[in-house]
Amino acid sequence: MDRRTLLKSGSAALLSLGFGGCATSRVARKTSTFPADARSSVRLPPVEASWDRVIRTTVGLRPHRDSGFVLRAEKLDEKLLVHNYGHGGAGMSLSWGTGYMAAEAATEHDQRRAAVIGCGVVGLTGARQLQRRGFDVTIYAMSVPPDTTSNMSLAGFTPTSGLIENARRTSEWTEQFRRAARIAYRQLQLLAGPHYGVSWISNYNLTDEPEEGPAETGDLLPAELRTGGVRFGPGEHPFPTKYAIRRPVIRIEPSIYLDALVRDFLSFGGRINIRKFDTPRDLMSLPQSVIINCTGLGSRMLFGDEELIPLKGQLTHFVPQPEINYQTGSDTRNLALRGNIGIHMMPRTDGIALGGTSERGVWTLEPNEGARQEVVDQHIQLFAAMRKNRNLAVI
Ligand SMILES: Cc1cc2nc3c(=O)[nH]c(=O)nc-3n(C[C@H](O)[C@H](O)[C@H](O)COP(=O)(O)OP(=O)(O)OC[C@H]3O[C@@H](n4cnc5c(N)ncnc54)[C@H](O)[C@@H]3O)c2cc1C
Repeated sequence: MDRRTLLKSGSAALLSLGFGGCATSRVARKTSTFPADARSSVRLPPVEASWDRVIRTTVGLRPHRDSGFVLRAEKLDEKLLVHNYGHGGAGMSLSWGTGYMAAEAATEHDQRRAAVIGCGVVGLTGARQLQRRGFDVTIYAMSVPPDTTSNMSLAGFTPTSGLIENARRTSEWTEQFRRAARIAYRQLQLLAGPHYGVSWISNYNLTDEPEEGPAETGDLLPAELRTGGVRFGPGEHPFPTKYAIRRPVIRIEPSIYLDALVRDFLSFGGRINIRKFDTPRDLMSLPQSVIINCTGLGSRMLFGDEELIPLKGQLTHFVPQPEINYQTGSDTRNLALRGNIGIHMMPRTDGIALGGTSERGVWTLEPNEGARQEVVDQHIQLFAAMRKNRNLAVI
């Protein structure tokens, strides 16, 4: 390993702290890092951050359960019902994996016609996993892209974010999670390219702490899912924090990705019906004997799962800047930005997404104006400081 490489254990921090794509964490983490070579500083174009470049604010409700997602099969009279819901701030990251495992459970039934309830990322990837096993699949859903929670996602690869309370983890669930995360990580790598809107990008975790703290979710994330990185010290990077830790991360652009999944599903013979289900009994009228429940937060009403609650998140978007080829994430503890919200920026084709909020148990889809102000103002401050500092960096 060369000296510019961060020990792999460090990248856990990125996955839910520095780049808090989902539920923002304020807990410090511990990690070992290798410093950057002092002569090779970071030179990056700053985001043009100002209120007159704001183009929209979007809100989504992450489907969170303190004890983690539900992935299990049950009998509903003659039908096999497989639950696959409650992915919190990690659904975009994990869905290929939990979908794979749900499809495995579906093959226990001898019928090869399946109904998938839900057309967000969990339903669509689950439906594709069934098609790959030879199932004839129909998706039934109240809403389809672009009108799903999945479309409102920041959508970094953040497999542990807003997913589970560590104290509620069971060994059985942990094993399910790790298998799903490995499958999903591999699958997303293979989708990289403009067709699916999946790509690798450098993320800079901005911090004043010389070391990152331990992951909120402990050792949950398998080591091989952590990429290495480089720590830049004072004077080696253009950001207003003491340190900037750079790591390669996977970025998903939801509008491109979800549309591509819909096209793939239809081109493999899938059908989509717009339909709402009010009770589990409604499902009995379906002609399919295999039913996969991918209704996200909808499972609270449909199946009476009261543990399922929203973690409300919102993103404010600036006008896109194609030259911005890096992301940033910052926790609440750095002195330069002095925010109450850990913030992050992800450049996408459809806008430069700014986020950081996670409001537990809040159901409204109305933007939180105070949080919007703070997230945008912190980014204006961040990129103004970067503009000033970047000429100090030596290449
Ligand atoms: C601001 C924000 C940032 C995020 N960042 C990330 C991130 O960086 N990385 C990451 O991995 N995840 C992230 N997430 C989380 C991710 O978006 C969710 O985990 C994921 O979208 C959940 O997908 P889903 O398919 O379960 O739910 P949804 O997308 O909500 O889909 C549910 C589907 O079920 C249907 N449905 C529900 N109830 C019924 C019913 N009764 N009858 C018929 N149909 C029904 C709906 O119409 C919809 O089609 C973020 C979320 C937000 C809001």
